Amino acid sequence: MSDSVLALHAIQTRIAEAITAAHRARNAVQLIAVSKTFEAVKIEPVLTAGQKVFGENRVQEAQQKWPQLRQQYGVVDLHLIGPLQTNKVKEAVALFDVIQTVDRPKLVSALAREVQKTGAKTQFYIQVNTGREPQKAGVLPEDFENFMAAAKTELGNHIVGLMCIPPAHEDPRPHFQLLRAMAEAQNISCLSMGMSADFEIAVAEGATHVRVGSAIFGSRPKPEAIVI
Ligand SMILES: *Cc1c(COP(=O)(O)O)cnc(C)c1O
Repeated sequence: MSDSVLALHAIQTRIAEAITAAHRARNAVQLIAVSKTFEAVKIEPVLTAGQKVFGENRVQEAQQKWPQLRQQYGVVDLHLIGPLQTNKVKEAVALFDVIQTVDRPKLVSALAREVQKTGAKTQFYIQVNTGREPQKAGVLPEDFENFMAAAKTELGNHIVGLMCIPPAHEDPRPHFQLLRAMAEAQNISCLSMGMSADFEIAVAEGATHVRVGSAIFGSRPKPEAIVI
């Protein structure tokens, strides 16, 4: 068995244990396998092992890999977890089942136009910058209520979730708790939070979707190691 499939099984076990410890329903959490930067040959064993939900952070990279993988392996739920430019909205709506990074009024309007035009069933999550980090995408917590009201007007019940990426060197728990409280206040059911290093804490704090990449596929080249 390939390393990634062994790792997948280990993550599935740890998620199940975290679910049990939190007294949550057995199927309360979906694992999103984050396959960004990995080529199709690395993804195939994980598909064969039965994993059907994947995350990518770039529209163009996903377009190069997933139409063919879907043809070969059947239905796959694809989540966009990286920033989306308005000029890529058409491609993103055509390819992804879920877009988790909605965070600007202009993007909301572009997505609403595309959904109206195509009748796409795409689901959207609002990304919240819970740590108020200047370099990070996402709606600021103090702007969230107004943003949400406007987004609901345009996208209606296509908005089903919230997503956050806590600051790298902080305790993630208060961020997960904040996101959960925001979702509950707005009657939103999906909570995408938790990555390789902290998904068990996220499960304890109510995550419905955890995004796990390196703990399944291995380490990626660090962005800071790439010289431009
Ligand atoms: C890359 C990425 C992940 C996965 O991170 P790992 O630490 O490799 O599990 C999760 N969420 C987002 C938004 C990402 O960009």
